[in-house]
Amino acid sequence: MHPDEHGARSAQPDPLAAVPDAVAHLDRSWRFTYLNASAERLLDRRAEDMLGRTLLECFPTAAGRSLARRLAQVVRHGEPRVFEHLHSHQQRWYELRAFPDPNGISVLFRDIDERRRREERHAAALHELAGVLEALPAPTVLVDHDLRILSANRAWHANGELLRREGKQPGQLGDDYLEAMALGLSPDDHAVLTAGLHRLLAGTPDGAHRTFDLDYEGRFGTTTFWFRLQASRVEGSDRVVVSHTDITERVRSEQALQWQAGHDELTGLPNRRRMLRLVDDALDEAAGRRDGRNSTALLHLDLDGFKTINDSLGHHIGDVLLAQVATRLLDQVRPGDAVGRLGADQFLVLARDCDSAEAAALAFRLQSSFALPFPAEGLSVPLSSSIGVAVAHLGTHDAQTLLGDADAAMYAAKSAGRDRVHLFSPGLREAARWRLEVATRLRDDAIDQLVVHYQPVVRLDTGLVEGLEALVRWQHPQRGLLLPDAFLSVAEETGQVIPITRRLLRETTAQAAAWAAEGMDLRMSVNVSARHFATETLVRDVRLALRDSGLAPEQLVLELTETSVAEDPTRAEDQLTVLRGIGVRIAIDDFGTGWSSLAQLFALPIGTLKIDRSLLAAAERAASGDTGAVLAAIVALTRTLGIRSVAEGVETVDHLRMVRAAGCDLAQGWLLGRPMPADEVPGWVRRVEAAGGDLCRIAEVAAASGAPAGGVRRPHGR
Ligand code: C2E
Ligand code: CA
Ligand code: CA
Repeated sequence: MHPDEHGARSAQPDPLAAVPDAVAHLDRSWRFTYLNASAERLLDRRAEDMLGRTLLECFPTAAGRSLARRLAQVVRHGEPRVFEHLHSHQQRWYELRAFPDPNGISVLFRDIDERRRREERHAAALHELAGVLEALPAPTVLVDHDLRILSANRAWHANGELLRREGKQPGQLGDDYLEAMALGLSPDDHAVLTAGLHRLLAGTPDGAHRTFDLDYEGRFGTTTFWFRLQASRVEGSDRVVVSHTDITERVRSEQALQWQAGHDELTGLPNRRRMLRLVDDALDEAAGRRDGRNSTALLHLDLDGFKTINDSLGHHIGDVLLAQVATRLLDQVRPGDAVGRLGADQFLVLARDCDSAEAAALAFRLQSSFALPFPAEGLSVPLSSSIGVAVAHLGTHDAQTLLGDADAAMYAAKSAGRDRVHLFSPGLREAARWRLEVATRLRDDAIDQLVVHYQPVVRLDTGLVEGLEALVRWQHPQRGLLLPDAFLSVAEETGQVIPITRRLLRETTAQAAAWAAEGMDLRMSVNVSARHFATETLVRDVRLALRDSGLAPEQLVLELTETSVAEDPTRAEDQLTVLRGIGVRIAIDDFGTGWSSLAQLFALPIGTLKIDRSLLAAAERAASGDTGAVLAAIVALTRTLGIRSVAEGVETVDHLRMVRAAGCDLAQGWLLGRPMPADEVPGWVRRVEAAGGDLCRIAEVAAASGAPAGGVRRPHGR
């Protein structure tokens, strides 16, 4: 409003009346010369009350205030200026533009309170955010929409220090965040991160995809770290906060758990479960190959006699040995192959792209890696292994089947003797099935189908029958009469051999007592398994059998193999001493097949030594007329120790001559009498007596005329 000389309003309408900004003009002596309508509202006074009066007359309190001082400065400098001002009464913010002119000064007020307060809030929020960032233990950055680093917290900078020590340049304020991250991330992870951040930024600021996570692996020097990266779009802005939390400890413990689930703790090798997975993978991979090289081999290795080692040297040394076996096996395999531990003393070796010939070569290589003894705590322990080899050709196997085949082959290797390699053949699968059937049936009803056959034991000086050896057979309803080879080893494994022996002890002692009552005083020999010593029931089982049958203890001979005694000599010795004390006789069976210490063996209360058939065969192969040095030496030794010797497997007149010449006391074999069922024994004995009773002579005469000794040859059994 332009006031005229008299302070009256002019008739012309004010062109600035509708402007929302307040506009005022003051002359050089600070009198108001113009005020628009907005200025009246702002100053809360009518224009006519202010026009022509000075600023201080109108607003005495403005004296000395910052606004007055600033306007005075503008006038003094003659330069327009813009500044922000807080209206003290209204408590609102205004932007002031002051334009000096020769007559005074024009001042424009614009209400910026809302903007100013929004900015203040924003700044406070940013300040707070910066504080939060700073307080976060995880390295954290704030990046803008170009993914440049706007701010970073202390932890980020500290991490940067680590990088710098490695000669890398960490991301600084203003740097490209993705470029900085490329230092520590794999290319794959980096691609995921790039895509994730772009997706975050592409969405609306408050849209759905506001966060993004990535776990990644990074390296500082030689150590691997794991981080969880979490990026979130800041609400209401196009900035993104990215934190990088160190999750190394958690990942490590998860990995340790996972590792434990798949590995054997002692050797660090994959366990059964993990090996089966590896075999499955190898088979799948082989199936996918186009070059025809798609056979996969699995070797099942079982240490020989490891239980004995464990028992005699202690589990601690056993563990040391197992760990060494693992190392030796690992030394023999190619990089893509795997060695695992099935448990106890059993190992698996998986060889990819390996045919039967190569697998056999590998097996022999594994075997010869055992050539040197294994050192353990100052000891030097010789070890050998039995190895079964199975090879899967294209698409024919799954891991379980292949493992079963390797297992069957290993079993065949084991039963052929120690330190052998056996290649799987489909027949073995049949054998494995048979073993399973035997194990199940023996547990169920088969024990009632067992029968005993009796083979004569003959004195070599008189040719008289001294006694009988009880040999078990299985009258199988479908397969006919089965020899012990077909089922006893399974019974040993399952432990069924104990109740079987217990039952045979009862049956045979009762039988011997019955025959004695009929005038046939025949000593009864019963085979006892090594396992019987471990259960410590042998003494009781024998006592009960003798008590119930009434058989004189001297008439019972227990036959034990030398290896069975060697397994736990002290335990065996204790039990044998008790039995010997009752009067029972002890015989060592199959002498010459094991390799236990003779001194240890002869420390036992042994009455008889049964010399294995294989020694007789060896003697036979020796120079003609020679009885075989070994055979003669053994017999001489038993003589001096007062032990009687039995020659096993006397099949021919030549054998008979040989064992006599060697000085054996007793003999057993097809030439003299085959194993026969109980009901045939009395008739056979009577026929022998009728023929003079000297079985050796009878046999020689019969051989000369081509008939069997004693006139008895069984169609079944041996
Ligand atoms: P063993 O104790 O050495 O028994 C002698 C084996 O040689 C018997 O085989 C017998 O039939 C066979 N034999 C006898 N004379 C001759 C011969 O002149 N030539 C040949 N080639 N063989 C002959 P069998 O009955 O098959 O028994 C095999 C093994 O099974 C036995 O060997 C013994 O170790 C075991 N066994 C048999 N019955 C029992 C038993 O009741 N309990 C236990 N624990 N083992 C038994
Ligand atoms: Ca025997
Ligand atoms: Ca024998």
